[in-house]
Amino acid sequence: MVVRPAPAVGNQKFMNSKDTPPAAGVEQELYAKRQKIYPREVHGLFATLRTLGVFVLLGLYYGLPWLRWGDRQAVLLDLPARQFHIFGITFFPQDFFYLAVLLIIAALALFFFTTLAGRLWCGYACPQTVWTEVFMWIERKVEGDRPRQMKLDKAPWTPRKVLIKGTKHTLWILFSLWTGYTFVGYFTPITELAVKIGSLSTGPWETFWVLFYGAATYLNAGWMREQVCIYMCPYARFQSAMFDENTLVISYDPRRGEPRGSRKRGADPRALGLGDCIDCTLCVQVCPTGIDIRDGLQYQCIGCAACIDVCNQVMDKMGYPRGLIRYTTQNALQGKPTRILRPRVFVYSAVLLLLTVALVHALVTRVPLEVDVIRDRNALYRVVGGSLVENTYLLKIINMDTRPRRFVVAVSGIPGVRLAREPRIVDVAATDVAEVPVRVRVPRARLDRTRYDVEFIVRAVDDRALKVSERGRFLAPPPGS
Ligand code: SF4
Ligand code: SF4
Repeated sequence: MVVRPAPAVGNQKFMNSKDTPPAAGVEQELYAKRQKIYPREVHGLFATLRTLGVFVLLGLYYGLPWLRWGDRQAVLLDLPARQFHIFGITFFPQDFFYLAVLLIIAALALFFFTTLAGRLWCGYACPQTVWTEVFMWIERKVEGDRPRQMKLDKAPWTPRKVLIKGTKHTLWILFSLWTGYTFVGYFTPITELAVKIGSLSTGPWETFWVLFYGAATYLNAGWMREQVCIYMCPYARFQSAMFDENTLVISYDPRRGEPRGSRKRGADPRALGLGDCIDCTLCVQVCPTGIDIRDGLQYQCIGCAACIDVCNQVMDKMGYPRGLIRYTTQNALQGKPTRILRPRVFVYSAVLLLLTVALVHALVTRVPLEVDVIRDRNALYRVVGGSLVENTYLLKIINMDTRPRRFVVAVSGIPGVRLAREPRIVDVAATDVAEVPVRVRVPRARLDRTRYDVEFIVRAVDDRALKVSERGRFLAPPPGS
């Protein structure tokens, strides 16, 4: 598959197959000033799906921090306490494994969907796309549709223009600050944060992140828009490696559309020697990255499908079949058979399924208790009363449950081994860590080596199933010394 770079970005120039490279010896500037893109509003099936995506994803983003679970916020990433509360489960840094698996699943899902249907992520779910949709909606509400926006930008600065532009930027900034506030609300209880902001008493880090995240939203979705996708996002550069001739991509069908040309409605294109493309350039005008899909597959295409919607409307008006621009494969465009379900799709889906099942199983069977054994490094061993060898340890008992627990500590692994103080009962508050010094003693007569493994067993008093074992090293004097 050939991915052709577009000759220029910006829908003020309608680049098409007639564009030619500069003649030899002609100087060409390497820096091209950005031409602002004014995407035309579009309606249709894919626009509806994108709007639905915006509502669901932003609804989750702005709504989740307000959700309660028991007596605390349902999703709260408490960094100072190193506790991550997610719907009644508290994760600790020791649970990094789950995050690692989740990230692997997310990466695999990205590969899977890209292999299957191109840049679905970019077109429907990427935060840059989702927030830009909202910013463009605000822009349309304040400044009007595409022609009005273009006219306003060309017009000289008047009080009316200042008022319109000022209103738009004020709304953008307010929305961005709300976004920044929500972001920090995942790390600081959001209701407390609201009170702090109301009384202007937020901490320096909270203030910094609200402003930083707000500024990033304002700049990325308000000003930079397609520049983020084209110049900053690494995914755009390597996603073509996941494409092949059987990947569903948004394509213009040149065999059907060419030669393009305007004609009267109802005219027979074949009689005029034309294809179905009426060269209305609407597909370029709706494109948020300002490219012409008729130039072929380009890395600037984020797969938003706006050009499909608008072209289908044109085809409806002309009385032609829909689908001049459509989701299709390179093979299908060349009249070759297409295999959407191919080996790599099966491999990705099998690995994805396996990892997802493993993660769910690990979460369901997760034991909310962790024990770390730290040997006292100051003394290898101590001989007590001439007949007992004693080693000292520090046990870190992490109660990852949302309620306080009483645990009993036991030790095994060497004949005659016991704790100096038994029974060793430890109370640990909910989602808390207890540091418990313990002394382990073994009758010297039972020891015939200098090194042993001992096993510490920590068990909840009221729940026999809640039990964790952890190994430690026991050192003894040389036999006969
Ligand atoms: S919208 Fe359709 S008909 Fe109009 S220029 Fe684009 S491809 Fe041709
Ligand atoms: S070419 Fe079509 S699908 Fe690609 S970004 Fe432009 S409008 Fe969206």
